[in-house]
Amino acid sequence: MVTMSEVKAVIAAAPSVGAEATQPQTKKRRASENGITVADIKNGADEKARVIDESYFASYSDIELHRTMIEDSVRTNAYQQAIFQNTEEDIRGKVVADVGCGTGILSMFCAQAGAKKVYAIDASKIAVHAKQLIEANGFKDVITVLQGKAEEVELPEKVDMIVSEWMGYMMLYETMLPSVLYVRDKWLKPGGKMYPERAVLYMALGEAQWITKYEEGTYDFWISLNHVYNLDMSLLADHAVARYKDVVHVHMVAQEDVLSLPTPVCDLNLMTVTAEDLRSISRSFTLSSMGSRRLNSMVLWFDVWFPGGFKLSTSPDNEDTHWQNTVLPLATAPLQQDTQVKGELSITQDLTNHRFLNVDLTYSVDKGEEITRCFKMDDNCNDNDF
Ligand code: SAH
Repeated sequence: MVTMSEVKAVIAAAPSVGAEATQPQTKKRRASENGITVADIKNGADEKARVIDESYFASYSDIELHRTMIEDSVRTNAYQQAIFQNTEEDIRGKVVADVGCGTGILSMFCAQAGAKKVYAIDASKIAVHAKQLIEANGFKDVITVLQGKAEEVELPEKVDMIVSEWMGYMMLYETMLPSVLYVRDKWLKPGGKMYPERAVLYMALGEAQWITKYEEGTYDFWISLNHVYNLDMSLLADHAVARYKDVVHVHMVAQEDVLSLPTPVCDLNLMTVTAEDLRSISRSFTLSSMGSRRLNSMVLWFDVWFPGGFKLSTSPDNEDTHWQNTVLPLATAPLQQDTQVKGELSITQDLTNHRFLNVDLTYSVDKGEEITRCFKMDDNCNDNDF
């Protein structure tokens, strides 16, 4: 969907909840001692989620955000191509729900392709502009805009197809997919179509050059002070680098800096996957290095497919997209040709903010010691170019 700095500003704007919320068991026990019921806790959690969502949807009222997405021609053209090339099979004369319509662009593609009716749903105020644009383009009779949460709107009929652009960074950040699945389960006719219908998240070994550059530049700077001021400030380099490597980075990785073939972290069939399946995803992996290089990161990206085999890819092999790649920095380790890196990656929805993700990686290089790295996909992710 949008850029990290945009979304992170919004998600972060939601009130932070205390660390105790990450330990529901403890909290429940304490609460019952105070005469607070489990229902009270549930209401509190619902209220927190509501406030988080409120600022999430507020962010999407910003037209600039929609420009960022529409300007990403890999993204927008993939949807247009899938809709236009499947017109006869899936669109002409059909009823469509556009979940998270934004400016209404995908709804209008469907109308151009001859849809009988499109329900364009969005909880953000951008829906007001969608309505104006739909009228201005002469689609008032075909497209009905419903401003509200996908989970709450009532459609007058079931639909033949759902189109949605729900993907965030690392595919799952922002946790919008459960809303689309909710609409699927409630409103999609049996045998109806999902656009996209399949989504795969990949991981591969990486040597991100900009991480190396940052490390070298940081050490050079702090060590150089020795010569200028005769003071040893080099300790700060260790801290700065550790901090830099402690967060998830959203950044393109050059094709030649991907050091292994990719392996899927998850392969979602969007006709059948459930919100429960998405709460925690974990995958064991064995990745084999190609060439003698220095491992310094795990690189993740995703592809989605539409009916008819049309693919939207955010791979380092392809043109850049606004999603870029997701990079988990690792301790630098030398790799020879065919060195094996084995381990497990898990992605879990954060308990305190359902839009955040926890990314835990355990791995060993060439049967060496096991290393565990825990990252949080939240407002501290780094998407600044270095
Ligand atoms: N379809 C548009 C916009 C995609 S961005 C395009 O392709 O350009 C995702 C949109 O989904 C945002 O406008 C956001 O407000 C909306 N959205 C996310 N979750 C939603 C939910 N549960 N209910 C309604 N709208 C939602």
